[in-house]
Amino acid sequence: MELLSGISASSGIAIGKAFLYLEDEVPEIPRYKIAKDHSELEWDRFLSAVGEARAEVKTLLDASSHEMGKEQVELLETHLLMLEDEEFQNQIKETFEDRLENIEWVIRDIVHDLTQKLSFSPDSYLRERTADIADVARRVIYKLLSIRRFSLADLVEDVILVVHDLLPMDALIMNKERVKGIVMDMGSRTSHTAILTRAFEIPAVLGLSRATRLINNGAQIIVDGAEGQIVIDPDAQTLKRYRGALSRYQRNAKGLLHYTDYPAETTDGHRVSLKANIEFPEEVEQALRYGAEGIGLYRSEFLFLSPGHPAEEELQYQSYRRVLKAMGDRPVTIRTLDLGGDKLLPNIQDNDEKNPLLGWRAVRFCLSLPELFKTQLRALLRCSVEGQLRIMFPMISGLGELIDVLTFVEEAKEECRKKGQPYKEDMPVGIMIEIPAAAMIADILAKKADFFSLGTNDLIQYGLAVDRGNEKISYLAQPFHPGVLRFLKTSIDAAHAQGIKAALCGELAGDPYATPLLLGLGLDEFSMNASALPLVKKIIRDSSMEDCRALADAALACSSWQRIALLTEEWMGEFFPDG
Ligand code: PEP
Ligand code: MG
Repeated sequence: MELLSGISASSGIAIGKAFLYLEDEVPEIPRYKIAKDHSELEWDRFLSAVGEARAEVKTLLDASSHEMGKEQVELLETHLLMLEDEEFQNQIKETFEDRLENIEWVIRDIVHDLTQKLSFSPDSYLRERTADIADVARRVIYKLLSIRRFSLADLVEDVILVVHDLLPMDALIMNKERVKGIVMDMGSRTSHTAILTRAFEIPAVLGLSRATRLINNGAQIIVDGAEGQIVIDPDAQTLKRYRGALSRYQRNAKGLLHYTDYPAETTDGHRVSLKANIEFPEEVEQALRYGAEGIGLYRSEFLFLSPGHPAEEELQYQSYRRVLKAMGDRPVTIRTLDLGGDKLLPNIQDNDEKNPLLGWRAVRFCLSLPELFKTQLRALLRCSVEGQLRIMFPMISGLGELIDVLTFVEEAKEECRKKGQPYKEDMPVGIMIEIPAAAMIADILAKKADFFSLGTNDLIQYGLAVDRGNEKISYLAQPFHPGVLRFLKTSIDAAHAQGIKAALCGELAGDPYATPLLLGLGLDEFSMNASALPLVKKIIRDSSMEDCRALADAALACSSWQRIALLTEEWMGEFFPDG
């Protein structure tokens, strides 16, 4: 038995068998000439590889489509259509007959040229297809080279997924029904993969450094998401203890649901708003189940990253509309695309930036692609008549940038007017405060924004110079750092001085230890992973605003995060002695 400590990414306990998923080695593709009289044989080799690939996809769809998510089924169906596409096959045949080179090499070349061309296409549907084409080609090439390829979408047994690093894209395609827990060498609590594990409610421990080296395929693993620990090959006693903890955890979570029907109001009558963060429209049901008063952050970029999803205006419109309709009178804040950093749009944003987190990301990316940006704004504006929509811009760094994005909103409105598409003229437009400079000039930005939402994940990353995906320095990412607290206070005060509300939608909003402090700082709205809502609400309902203000004043006078953490722990110990 061995115990490893990492970073708690998603709470809950999972017990199961390890499935070690190590990245595929990219195979070397040979290149050789084919004699003319062997060309028919070579073509038969191609046809049978396509047949095998097609049969593989079909078997997967037949055997497990009922267990897969909608995106996975659509992705596989797209692959099937491509494998059956006559035009695609004819193109390969023509090139093959012309060049008489081995078929894997011909496919590689054609697909390379095609994806290059498509990635610069003005049509977003075609751009989106590049990843599918590359994937289908890989499937066929692997068959030709007799390499067995495994995709996380193909999982058919319950597993604890053990990986070195899992990109948000991989997390999207995996068979979520079968992944009971996630164990990862890399990553930190605010990395986007961690955020997705919480959205999927899969217990996860990240930043373990050596997990893939220490765990054997099939080993029994316990994932304790809340404590950020895993146990490899537990003994009988440990297993019994965790089985008990698992049923207690399930009982507690159920008990807390009782709070969903009550308002988030302190004992002395101060009311705040509790909302949910979502990445997919499907999460709305979960948000409502946990009592969300609205959606405080819909990360719209995941619509673009999901496999097989072209992000055309109509599809965007339908997805946003679905969320608005489901939320009825409750406000829904949709954030415009925050692509870049660790969320790269395949074939448009290449992975060659030196500092992607400081690079072509969020509004910077959108402002340089006016058509893409305006398409999203039009889809949003058209939805504004369907509910209580608010739009929000990520990564605003200064006034000029804010004015630029607001000009885009006006242009998009003009385009809707011309097309006779109705929209709400007074739809609130807010910004994220997640760049230190924005926090420092919050008084200036507040004059032009209808609301603020504090993005502590990035504010901490940029304010403390700690890459949020790097487990080696994650100990430095301290939300209670006095510098971070001052950023928060400056921004909240600036919002209030201008008569606008301050929300917080970083992961800190769902941390129960931060709740009294954030209340005391005057935060108006907390937006978090839906499953964190009941506990945060319980703490708010059991606290008084007077005590919280005193706590915030004391914290602001502290000189280190350790002292503030101690203060908060003592406060929690005094007011919540039962833990
Ligand atoms: C943040 O930075 O705190 C935030 C909510 O945005 P994201 O995590 O998507 O960067
Ligand atoms: Mg952010």
